[in-house]
Amino acid sequence: MTGQRRVIAQVLSDSDDHPNVETVYQRASEVDPRISIATVYRTVKLFEQASILTRHDFGDGRARYEVDAPEHHDHLIDIDTGKVIEFRNDEIERLQREAALALGYRLVGHRLELFGVRAGGRKAKKTAGGARGGGDGNDSPSGGVSG
Ligand SMILES: [Zn+2]
Repeated sequence: MTGQRRVIAQVLSDSDDHPNVETVYQRASEVDPRISIATVYRTVKLFEQASILTRHDFGDGRARYEVDAPEHHDHLIDIDTGKVIEFRNDEIERLQREAALALGYRLVGHRLELFGVRAGGRKAKKTAGGARGGGDGNDSPSGGVSG
């Protein structure tokens, strides 16, 4: 691994906020100002192909990255602030396995992104698109929030 790649790898493993390429570039160039954004793009792509990184689309049109987590988790995106909250809900995990099984499949992976506004906070002015896979109306933010 070249020195620049090593810096980019370090930045990524130090980031727990799912940065996009520009943010990775900013952080990497603080460590090594010679790093170009093209190098960051190339390296991130390489890491993604090697399954070191997971790419996410959180609805803002920019790919965001995180180091492949040993523990599975899902994401809730605050559409007012863009903040990404990681969570795990064992009941949701179980329901997904059951849904796959009912269709004749053994589940090997899934992605779940919830889009929300703070309950009880200020009202959302706009419902910025992107809420996929309609909810079932369960809006109680129960359990499993971490990070
Ligand atoms: Zn995550």
